[in-house]
Amino acid sequence: MLILMDADHKKDQLARVVAKIEELGFKSHVLPGANSTAVGITGNARPLDPRVFEQIEGVKQAIPVTKPYKLAGRDFADGDTHIAIPGSDVKIGGDTFVVMAGPCAVESEEQTVRIAKKIKERGAHLLRGGAFKPRTSPYAFQGLGEDGLKILATAREETGLPVITEALDPNSLELVYKYADVIQIGARNMQNFALLKEAGKLDKPVMLKRGLSATIDEWLMSAEYIMSEGNKAVMLCERGIRTFSSHTRNTLDLNAVPVAQKLSHLPVIVDPSHGTGLRDKVAPLARAAAAVGANGVMIEVHDRPEEALCDGPQAMSPENFEHLVGILRKLGEVLEFKV
Ligand code: PEP
Ligand code: MN
Repeated sequence: MLILMDADHKKDQLARVVAKIEELGFKSHVLPGANSTAVGITGNARPLDPRVFEQIEGVKQAIPVTKPYKLAGRDFADGDTHIAIPGSDVKIGGDTFVVMAGPCAVESEEQTVRIAKKIKERGAHLLRGGAFKPRTSPYAFQGLGEDGLKILATAREETGLPVITEALDPNSLELVYKYADVIQIGARNMQNFALLKEAGKLDKPVMLKRGLSATIDEWLMSAEYIMSEGNKAVMLCERGIRTFSSHTRNTLDLNAVPVAQKLSHLPVIVDPSHGTGLRDKVAPLARAAAAVGANGVMIEVHDRPEEALCDGPQAMSPENFEHLVGILRKLGEVLEFKV
């Protein structure tokens, strides 16, 4: 339920509304808006009777909210969410188009710093790279763990690029929180509710990838898990879903971008690298992502893809990445976003 206060409501009237919500055992979210204040209620399993709140002085109206993702959905929100990346001037959302790039995995300090410098020179805003890798096979390279995070921190020092990297479980989450600027929750963990709740208690932005076969509602409910614990700096990432089509690794669901943006105020990033799995398809789909209105892209870049320990076939060269960034900037001139 969303409670709209009168424009000239008194402080104690607002306090009475909050107290009533808490007395009923629910959580209140005071949402100051441009013209008036609203109070959102979460935690109720069933719809509430609007009259309970409408009889409190200073309340204009109590509106039932039909969507189960109240914090991630638009009903409670006053416009789009903008996320500032701590310790940098990178902003996500609004009219900025963010470019995250880097290798699939952190393989060594030399490799990560080398690639980080190349992508920085070519226009990336954030460095990506997995230190904890969720691999289909237990025999495949699992990542360097904390050593990989230390390497990412070194690459940040060398380039000034903030770092995004994946946490796989509560243990790695603690470490990722310590070293990274943005916490990535991967497709395979989209419904790891214990992990989502832990990430929700932290004060660093989280990028939540869409699950391999997740509906958009399930994806937004997962964002709700994070937000309901207090962390509101959440961005979504479409990274391709499973379909009958076998020509590409996944099917990048670009429909999901405007659909999620209509339902939710959270920024939506597109990952055409995992979405296609093929390097020659990454640039066309990145351009399409910008055209469809995504708030940014995450691109895997490697300068020696034949040596890559993970996802070499989908890694773009730094030169092709540079070309792509140039095109994204030109698209930005037409579509009015800043790359
Ligand atoms: C990744 O970005 O490194 C990754 C493993 O992606 P996803 O979770 O989308 O498979
Ligand atoms: Mn990868």
